[in-house]
Amino acid sequence: MMTDKELAELMFPDVTHDVEYYEKLYPERNLPEGAIVSRFAPSPTGFVHMGSLRSAFIAQKLPKDTNGVFYLRIEDTDGARTVENGIQGIIDDLKNFDIQIDEGMISETEEIGAYGPYIQSERREIYRTYAKSLVERGLAYPCFCTQEELDETRKMQELNKERIGIYGSYAKCRFLSNEERAERIRRGDKFIVRLKSPGDFRKKVSYQDLVRGKIEFPENDMDIVLIKSDGLPLYHFAHAIDDHLMHTTHVIRGEEWISSVPVHLQLFQVLGFKLPKYAHLGVVMKVDEDGTRRKLSKRKDPEAAVSYYHEQGIPVPAVKLYLMTTANSNFEAWWDQNPTLGIDDFRFDFKKMSVSGTLFDLEKLLNISRNYISRLTAEEVYQGCLTWAKEFDHEFAEILEKYPEYSKAIFNIEREQKKPRKDYESFSKVKSQVWYMYDEYFTGDLTYDFGKIQDPAEIAKILSTYLDKYFDENDDKDTWFEKIKQLSNELGYTTDMKAYRQNPDLYPGSVADVSTVIRVALTTSSMTPDLYVLLSLLGKERIKTRFQKFM
Ligand code: GLU
Repeated sequence: MMTDKELAELMFPDVTHDVEYYEKLYPERNLPEGAIVSRFAPSPTGFVHMGSLRSAFIAQKLPKDTNGVFYLRIEDTDGARTVENGIQGIIDDLKNFDIQIDEGMISETEEIGAYGPYIQSERREIYRTYAKSLVERGLAYPCFCTQEELDETRKMQELNKERIGIYGSYAKCRFLSNEERAERIRRGDKFIVRLKSPGDFRKKVSYQDLVRGKIEFPENDMDIVLIKSDGLPLYHFAHAIDDHLMHTTHVIRGEEWISSVPVHLQLFQVLGFKLPKYAHLGVVMKVDEDGTRRKLSKRKDPEAAVSYYHEQGIPVPAVKLYLMTTANSNFEAWWDQNPTLGIDDFRFDFKKMSVSGTLFDLEKLLNISRNYISRLTAEEVYQGCLTWAKEFDHEFAEILEKYPEYSKAIFNIEREQKKPRKDYESFSKVKSQVWYMYDEYFTGDLTYDFGKIQDPAEIAKILSTYLDKYFDENDDKDTWFEKIKQLSNELGYTTDMKAYRQNPDLYPGSVADVSTVIRVALTTSSMTPDLYVLLSLLGKERIKTRFQKFM
C-alpha cells in the first residue's frame, strides 16, 4: 500500500526542505511585550484605493504605537490582477502618504527585512513545502477534476439548490486511493492540491473580531484549493503561511474577507499555527446625490484613487487627519482639545471604530485640509505650492521661483495669527486665489464686476481721485482707511454703515462700495484678502497701470 508520505514525495519532487527548516529560518521576533506586528498586503494592481490606504494607515499606526513592525507584502499569486509597475505604484503611494514600512518591498525587485521574500511569487517553495506536509499527514490530497467536471458539479448543485463547492460527496478525488492517485500522477494527469477539510457544516465555530466582537459561523467543510495548477497557492493558504512565518500578530483588512474567516481558522488549525488577531474594517462608502449609499468606486469616483490627493496637492497630514476621524469616533473631540498634538500622540482604539462602514466625505476632508493649510507658515505654503507646481503646473512653478519673497508675502496675508484666513483647500487651488498678484497672469481679457457702482465715469472718478489725492505708499493701515473714508465722503458715499443699512436709498452707496471698486480694479475679484496689504504689495506703479484701464 502506498503511504501518504510516499504520495507526497510523488506530488512534490521539487520540494527539498521540510517545514522545520522554515520554522527555524523565521524564528519568533524579538520584540517588546505587547508589540504589534501588522502588514499591508495588496495585489499589485497598480492602483491603491482609498479604502486600502485607510487599512494600511491603521495597520501601520498600531506597530508605531507599540514599537512593533509594519511590513508590506505583495500578493501576486493571481497573475490576472498583476499589472506592470504595479508594485512601484503601491510603494510610491505609500511614500507619498508618508506611511513608512519597517520591512517588505522597497522597489519592483528589492526588499528589506529578515522575514522575506515579501512577494508571494517568490515564496512558491515555501507554500509547496507546507502543502507537502499536509499531504504527508493525510490532510490534503491531489484533485484531478477538469474544469468541465467542476462546472458539471456546480450546475447540479444549482439545480438541486444546494451549497456550491467541493465538499462531502462532491469532493470526488477525496475518495481515490493513494494507488489510484499515484497512477494518475505517473501518467502525467494534471492536478491541484485540495485541503481535506475536517469541518462539519452543522457545527459552529467563532472568533473574536477586534472591530465587530464575537462572530459565529458554521464550520468550513469545503475542500478548498491550496495549490493551483500553476504551482502557486490560492490566497487563503498563502495568508495562513505568510502571516504565520512573518509572525503577524494583527491581520487588519477589509470586511470583504469576513466570510473567509472559517476557512482561515481551519487552515491555522490544521497547520498547527497560532491564530493572529483579526480586525475587519468597514467599507468606505459614498452617498450619491439621490441619497443612496454605495461603495466608493474606482471607476466612478476620482477621489477613490490615492493618487488623486497627490495630484490635487492636498497635504498628506490633512488626509491622514481626515482618515483618523473616520477611523476613531473620538479622534475629533480629542483633537479639538489637543490642537497642538498630532496623530502620533493619539492612541488608536478598535473599539472606537464603526462597524457599519465609513462614509467618505470629500467636503469634510477638504475642510480639514483648509484648516490645516491655514495653520502653516507662509514659508511652508510656499514650499508646498512649489513642490506641487513643479510636478503639475510648470508655469506657476517658474513664477514662484522667480518671486520667492513676494510670493511668501502674499501667502503671509492674514496668516500666522489667531484666526488665520482659510483660502486654500489644497496647493493646486492656490493659484486661483492669488493669480492677480502676478502681472504674468494679469493680462488679456479680464472680466470685472464692480458690484453696486457700475457707471464707467463714476468708476474712473473714484480711481483717479484715490490715486491722485489720497493714496500714499507710506501710510499705515489706520491712516489708509481714514483716507478711504475721506474719499468716500468727498464723492458722496456714506461711511455710516448703520445709517446706510437703514436707508440705503438715501445714498449712492457706501464706503464698502468704494473699496470694492478699488479692489476689483486691482484684482477683478470682490473677495480678496486685506486690501491694504494687497495695495502695498502691488506698489504705486502697478496700481497706476491697473487703474489706467478705467481712467
Ligand atoms: N491581497 C489581499 C487583498 O488585496 C489581502 C487581504 C489581507 O490583507 O489579508 O485584499
